Amino acid sequence: MEQIYKYIDDNSQRFISELNTLLKQPSISSQRIGVEECARLLAGMMEDVGIRCEILPMGGLNNPPLVYGEIFSPGAKKTVLIYGHFDVQPPEPLEAWDSPPFEPTIRDGRIYARGSADNKGQLFAHIKAVEAIMKTAKDLPVNLKFLCDPEEEIGSPSLDDFVRAHPDRFAADMAYNSDGAMDSSGRPILSFGNRGTCYLEINYQEANRDLHSGQFGGPVPNPNWRVIEFLSTLHDSTGRVAIEGFYDDIVPPTPAEKEAMAKIPFDEEKTRRYLGLKRFDGPEDMGYWEKIMFQPTLNICGYSSGYGGEGTKTVLPCKTRVKIDMRLVKNQVPRDIFAKFKKHMETHGFGDMELKLLTTYNPAKTSIDHPMSKAIVAGVKKAFQSDPILHPVTGGSNPSSIITDFLGIPIIKVPYGSHDECNHAPNENLVIDLFIKGIKASATVFYELSAS
Ligand SMILES: [Zn+2]
Repeated sequence: MEQIYKYIDDNSQRFISELNTLLKQPSISSQRIGVEECARLLAGMMEDVGIRCEILPMGGLNNPPLVYGEIFSPGAKKTVLIYGHFDVQPPEPLEAWDSPPFEPTIRDGRIYARGSADNKGQLFAHIKAVEAIMKTAKDLPVNLKFLCDPEEEIGSPSLDDFVRAHPDRFAADMAYNSDGAMDSSGRPILSFGNRGTCYLEINYQEANRDLHSGQFGGPVPNPNWRVIEFLSTLHDSTGRVAIEGFYDDIVPPTPAEKEAMAKIPFDEEKTRRYLGLKRFDGPEDMGYWEKIMFQPTLNICGYSSGYGGEGTKTVLPCKTRVKIDMRLVKNQVPRDIFAKFKKHMETHGFGDMELKLLTTYNPAKTSIDHPMSKAIVAGVKKAFQSDPILHPVTGGSNPSSIITDFLGIPIIKVPYGSHDECNHAPNENLVIDLFIKGIKASATVFYELSAS
């Protein structure tokens, strides 16, 4: 490994400038800006290090370009599928950036640019690990396949159907992904799963237009009273979701998962102060991490009706819109939860309200005891010189279930971004030291996995 680490250190300046070229190319999937151009640029950079690439249009409405890559090694016994994405979130609000989002700028040891951490820089680390191994050891210890998603930031709407139609192409023994943030202490994290999502919208209307609240107030109903009445049926007094069958399928953490949760560094008092909170939600007898990793939620994301601006406007609103996201845990099925939500609405007498399902993600989980876990812990520890923290599940959502549940491949995520990477926000950044350690981590992990 010494020779490989030396190659990475010796070439770090070039790696940074190549990454900057990738960051200069916008690839905003939600606005359909530059995604095709970025796919071609990325594929070229992968070809440069010896990864055979194809740009695969995924069909559907936007025909987004998946970048597929593979590099096989004559002696390798295992195949690792790398998942990453090259699309980015919109950069707005532009005035909040200290330097333009698509002009990568280095300040205080960080590269500031949209996509630097989420996810171009982290994906690029794997590619540069391939280069470092090929230039020093000549052959990779494992076969690698790359699945570079062009639409992760909009929920990967085309990926599921595409992978289902081409399962052999993505077949592998295990999968590895780097996205998100390390612990705030600077210690690396291994994440074994993620929660799913069921995102829906409710619309309810009374009159055909907004009205003067004095001229019409009294006989004309305000839609908010019924919507609020409905929303209050969704939670019981302890904060538990009151939809029948909502918790039916969930499974408690295993002893190994409980042990891992207990080892996650966490200062409840400090976290509450950091968030400006007086208390956390119940149940009292359940820990912070168990609530995030093994419990589903029902969250009111947004509520709009009438006037919410400065000063007064005496309006009697005619319609109300509510956005709800439910984070789901292993064994819950988004469509089933949606059906239960709909039934709850109907049985409580609110079946006349419009209910729309917007997006779903399945939850996914890899066993914390899987043999690849030990190998990745060893690889990450060597590169970061620090003991990784094991997270049985991450609270957020991603398309991993297509890999775990459909392809049947275990996946472990190891973030290379810092805890203050500002992903999805202005001044997104990648700590250069972590980018370089990330390249070393990927290279080391490939060796450890080959021996696992
Ligand atoms: Zn993201």
